[in-house]
Amino acid sequence: MSTEAAAIENIAVYARIRSSSQPAEASSDVSVVDGQPDKVRAKDLQFNLDHAFGSDAKQAEVFNVIGAPLVQRITDGYNACIIAYGQTGSGKTYTMLGPENAKLDGSGGETADLGIVPRACLQLFKMLPAGYTVTTSYMEVYNDNVNDLLTADYTNKEYLPLRETVTGHVEPDGITRRQVKSASDVMKAIALGDSRRVVAAMAMNPRSSRGHGLIAIETYTDKGMSHGRLCLVDLAGMESSKKSGAVDVSGPSAAKARQEEAKRINMSLLALSNVVNALASKGAMKVPFRDSKLTRLLQSSLAGNCKAAFVVMLRGEKQNVEEATLTLRFAQARRAKAVAATVMRNEDSVKARSTGAAFLAAQKKLEEELQAQRAALSAYQEKLASAEGVKEAMKAKVDTLLSEMQSLQRDADDAKRQRRQEALQDETVAMSQAALERRVKALEQRNRELEEENRLLRQRDIMHRLIELDQLEAASGDGVKGGLGVNKEQLATFNTPSMSVTGAFAVQLDRQIEESEVRREVRRKASAQRLSSGQATVPQRRWSLLRMTFLSKRAKGRSVARGSGFAAARGSLRRVNPAPKTTKKVLSREDQATIKIQAVWRGKMVRDELAFGYGDEHAYGY
Ligand code: ADP
Ligand code: MG
Repeated sequence: MSTEAAAIENIAVYARIRSSSQPAEASSDVSVVDGQPDKVRAKDLQFNLDHAFGSDAKQAEVFNVIGAPLVQRITDGYNACIIAYGQTGSGKTYTMLGPENAKLDGSGGETADLGIVPRACLQLFKMLPAGYTVTTSYMEVYNDNVNDLLTADYTNKEYLPLRETVTGHVEPDGITRRQVKSASDVMKAIALGDSRRVVAAMAMNPRSSRGHGLIAIETYTDKGMSHGRLCLVDLAGMESSKKSGAVDVSGPSAAKARQEEAKRINMSLLALSNVVNALASKGAMKVPFRDSKLTRLLQSSLAGNCKAAFVVMLRGEKQNVEEATLTLRFAQARRAKAVAATVMRNEDSVKARSTGAAFLAAQKKLEEELQAQRAALSAYQEKLASAEGVKEAMKAKVDTLLSEMQSLQRDADDAKRQRRQEALQDETVAMSQAALERRVKALEQRNRELEEENRLLRQRDIMHRLIELDQLEAASGDGVKGGLGVNKEQLATFNTPSMSVTGAFAVQLDRQIEESEVRREVRRKASAQRLSSGQATVPQRRWSLLRMTFLSKRAKGRSVARGSGFAAARGSLRRVNPAPKTTKKVLSREDQATIKIQAVWRGKMVRDELAFGYGDEHAYGY
């Protein structure tokens, strides 16, 4: 299992329902399912989570369930992350930090109201071994830029670029790490950062953060080694409708800024949701961490060696049910398999009873369809498997034949080279050598020529067999595409009347056979001349030829035109190298195509165009 696939198991999802702002209003539309603290109901839908807190849940309870086990992990030297997600005004900041006036020492409010962050700090400092140091950093992702909220000179701040550390953790380059000695030091740092954050009065919350706040508390051993890392994220509010609109809009530019913020917030939350979805797909999808700064910063928390907890905040009022459902859907993404189950209201179940028979019939039909589809699928898979088997066997055969042919070709080249050398020696052979010696040489030569012919005939045979295999494959019609990987240029038929396809290699072989016959003739004449004039050299006339052949193969009223080529020179016949560039064209009856020929022969580029019609065949020479 990859780390990403494993990561989703490391993500826990909690929900917290915020008590209604008007106590008179019954917040019945979103609630924890009675007796099942891992289920939340939003109108007719039910969602499964790790744990859900009702509107009466206290801060201490929330911390004990979500925060305490994670702080334990930090003191054990691991990483953890808590992320608050939800609509504006749903209680993200309240859950993470507590009400604005709550102070650690209880001076400004109830210590009972303290949120996860101060409680986590208190516990961390209590449990951390002596000599360990702790640092805090606080950053804000605002409009996809990263602000260092603890920098010494905030008025001249610059957005921080992100960098990846050797451990794969992504962090803002140059982020301030403030050493803290107590929970209250941390809270002071956070208070400073908070005073610098971009906030706006929104309809749903008079102090709504317009960016995502990320607090990182890192521990180091007494030897200064990096130890644990707790990341606390207060996301900006999801803006799903006009009702969360800004209320302090003082001019058109402010309205524009709020609009841009909302767009950026929604984009980054969408990116986050895509990342969680991809993680839940367990490797089936690429995880798009790079889509936003927020997801990059959370990458190692969500997919690395880290336990992460999402706390999704829900508002119970009727008018917020849509947002609550969206938030729960996000939470549900973590468990791709756990599809929301439909809970029917009483009135719905009455309706269902009356339509029960029709429903059952429809269901039966669907099941039958499913069965049929499954059978078709397995039949197809079987067919595919057997077709693959045949193809594999043919491929193996072709490979053997091709390699045999290549080795024959190599032998032929070697023999040719040797012959040339001997011919050279021949010239220097003294004329006075005994007629007997000449007679022996001539016999040897004849022997070699016969060997050569034999080789050529075997090559020709292999090619015929290759073509047979190729045609067999084409005719098998099993729908499996891909061919045998035979280079068609090398395949050829030798002037079979139906289809005189001439591949370069075939022509080459033909020419070689022809050549050896011509050579024999020349030799015969030369020896006659030698006899009459007393001279022993064979005239070396060099010539070169580039010949292209074209064919078009007819099938179903269409024709595929293609060209191939070879070059020849007496004594050094070989394939054009590099292979000639030819065009392949599909022609119909009335089509006239022009084929472009382009080849390099003896370092010179040879180009031409040739008009070509349906079913035509051309030979072309230089
Ligand atoms: P968010 O950060 O999600 O926009 P806040 O945390 O700022 O929302 O909550 C908005 C208001 O609601 C704040 O005044 C906060 O004190 C109050 N609030 C939120 N949740 C609760 C709760 N569970 N109990 C009491 N007050 C709450
Ligand atoms: Mg907030």
